[in-house]
Amino acid sequence: MAELTKKEFESTSEALLEFIWDSPSPYHAVSNMAGLLAAQGYTELYENEPWEISRGRGYYVVRNGSAIISFYVPAVPERGYRIIASHSDSPTFKIKEDPEILSDGKYVQLNVEAYGGMVMNSWFDRPLSVAGRVAYASDGRVFTKNVDIDRDLLVIPNLAIHMDRSVNDGKKMNVQKDLLPLFGEAASAGKFRQLVSEDAGIPADSILAWDLTLYPHVRGSVFGADREFISSPKLDDLQCAWTTLQGFLNGKKEDHIAVHAVFDNEEVGSGTRQGAASTFLYDVLTRMNRALGGTEEYFLMNVADSWLLSADNGHAVHPNNPDKADPKNRPVLNGGPVLKFAGNQKYCTDAVSAAFFRDLCRKADVPVQTYANRSDIPGGSTLGNISTSQVAARSVDIGLAQLAMHSVSEVGGIRDSAYMVRAARVFYS
Ligand code: ZN
Repeated sequence: MAELTKKEFESTSEALLEFIWDSPSPYHAVSNMAGLLAAQGYTELYENEPWEISRGRGYYVVRNGSAIISFYVPAVPERGYRIIASHSDSPTFKIKEDPEILSDGKYVQLNVEAYGGMVMNSWFDRPLSVAGRVAYASDGRVFTKNVDIDRDLLVIPNLAIHMDRSVNDGKKMNVQKDLLPLFGEAASAGKFRQLVSEDAGIPADSILAWDLTLYPHVRGSVFGADREFISSPKLDDLQCAWTTLQGFLNGKKEDHIAVHAVFDNEEVGSGTRQGAASTFLYDVLTRMNRALGGTEEYFLMNVADSWLLSADNGHAVHPNNPDKADPKNRPVLNGGPVLKFAGNQKYCTDAVSAAFFRDLCRKADVPVQTYANRSDIPGGSTLGNISTSQVAARSVDIGLAQLAMHSVSEVGGIRDSAYMVRAARVFYS
């Protein structure tokens, strides 16, 4: 394959940063992905309607507005699905019901709680905004609308060092006390619901509930002496979700049924109806199989011949903390996709699936690197072994190397996005 050029690396990363900027919540990310699919002629299927599926065509299904599965059925599919799974959510702070709190009679703060495990101190002293969805009712039915306030709206102010001299010795964070964002002066009391309703375009008293979270109101950027790195919120996991979707859209998809799944709620254990532990993937595959005239026996044969790439970002060696990495398996930024191994099987990679992925990267002419936790540091988990509990495909855990995972803004390599697009494209070809 032709070597990727500097221009391709940069344009792919710029497009990724634009997508992330336009996707301040999982609802926006999924709506934007649905838009990309629709623009390429994919048809939306609804879970509460019968499905008719033609060969040589592509489809997508959205669940809860925050998870999406797209698939393409070639004219004469060989057995075995080709599936890539990633997630749409990132750690953040969820805005509670009745959120306004008056502090000292002078300030209005918003009442928030943690969603997922974030590096809390990274959220201080930077402009934040609010995005998500609101729900309202009409004629006995519930509808939702996405909301993005999209301006510098909030800041979580640090405490001055003069009032806490031990601040640099490691501070235990208390979300209820330390992480409440400043929203306005006392005169702004009552304005939060009003702002949300104006953005949604529905009257404030019609809003019956919301799923709203904070996000850093900052555009991702390219940095480094030779512009070799990117800095952006939500690289985990929108970098994998978007790059693998590009690979899905641009792959030939001539041999196998190609499936691209983006689940929600990975950061809180995947246990929701739109999470990787749900029946979403199983439901889509079995309904597709039935619509194509396949038997249950044929479906299970298909699953047995399938490959699932669980694509979720991994850790690069940290320049200030190189001792935190395994002595030998040390991914770096710009080193290409990472194969993740774990003895406790928190990652679903085994010898067979690792061999499959290494072979794939060789065909794609993409470098590949390996990750393992230091044996004395337990690592995280991801969605691979969770989704295979529903659809028992052979699976491998991969991702792109990054720094500062779960910080409000993360660091990646400028070349890695294009590497992943190409690996995914070959996977789907
Ligand atoms: Zn992740």
